[in-house]
Amino acid sequence: TLSFYSKLVSELHAHLNGSVSFETMEKLIARKPHLNIKHSMTAIRNGQHRTLDECFQVFKVIHQLVDSEEDILMVAKAVIQEFAADGVKYLELRSTPREETKTGLSKRRYIESAIEAIRQCKQEDVDIEVRFLVAIDRRNGPEVAMETVKLAEDFMLSSDGLIVGLDLSGDPTVGHGKDLLPALQRAKNCGLKLALHLSEIPSQKEESELLLDLPPDRIGHGTFLHPEVGGSDSLVDKVCKQNIPIELCLTSNVKGQTVPSYDKHHFQYWYERGHPCVLCTDDKGVFCTDLSQEYQLAASTFGLSQEAVWHLSQQAIQCSFAPEAVKQQLEQKWAELRPRVL
Ligand code: 5GP
Repeated sequence: TLSFYSKLVSELHAHLNGSVSFETMEKLIARKPHLNIKHSMTAIRNGQHRTLDECFQVFKVIHQLVDSEEDILMVAKAVIQEFAADGVKYLELRSTPREETKTGLSKRRYIESAIEAIRQCKQEDVDIEVRFLVAIDRRNGPEVAMETVKLAEDFMLSSDGLIVGLDLSGDPTVGHGKDLLPALQRAKNCGLKLALHLSEIPSQKEESELLLDLPPDRIGHGTFLHPEVGGSDSLVDKVCKQNIPIELCLTSNVKGQTVPSYDKHHFQYWYERGHPCVLCTDDKGVFCTDLSQEYQLAASTFGLSQEAVWHLSQQAIQCSFAPEAVKQQLEQKWAELRPRVL
């Protein structure tokens, strides 16, 4: 059955605070009853839709609930364990370092807490390899972006290789990528891999042209890159010529209404071209999904054979930012299971 395939998958696009499950959210809400937050404010159930703007309001609510070192540690450990329980063998978790004066949380301690969670899961033999991407929230502008890159650089040297890259995310209607180029360029020069949210909304054409020249190592969403939805041939050319993998999050895009329905998802456009596509959850807590469900949705919506699903999951290994040795170990795991599922 299809769920069997999902026993070996890589998750490359998961925002920490968007990935907090119902169970963990209940704990957080119980810890902070004075905030009067209901679970309906932190998750978008099946059949429900929100505007992209409303989705960003949801993150603000979650940030109120996750605002101390203990919270980050607890939440990150739970998220890693849940991905492992869903069959994910390699996870790249991304998160925006925040400081919170109320709890004394600093950006440095934020990242340290996330790394500590990864280390503890490893010690506890949770069956999953985890790496971390430091995220830039574009809403905070170029100075903060540069600070974040410097912080990520410091950690790259001290985190035993757990920090592998940088993410650019946050409300796409705010700010312009051109102002963030110096920070992104610096990150690239020091060896951080770049996973950039690109063309999530139609008005980002010019920005995507610029950012694709860096070039990024992976593209998040890329919903409006192709000409059929108002993108352009030039954008598609840049993506194809540089063979930049695209992280595709079906449920997130449908619930956030940047894509009208599953069958209209741009997965089809890129997949038909044979372009490297990686299925991802984006925010499994907020969008009430998990990675095996995303694989099943893609398979049923686009009529993918078991063989095709297998290849899709295998292809993600080479799109990851893992070091060669880890990629090889993963390839071996996948190869060992293949004859049993096909
Ligand atoms: P955090 O970085 O706090 O762990 O995860 C939540 C943050 O990830 C949000 O505040 C936002 O900056 C970013 N994020 C989560 N999902 C999306 C998405 O679909 N699009 C964009 N552009 N940013 C997102």
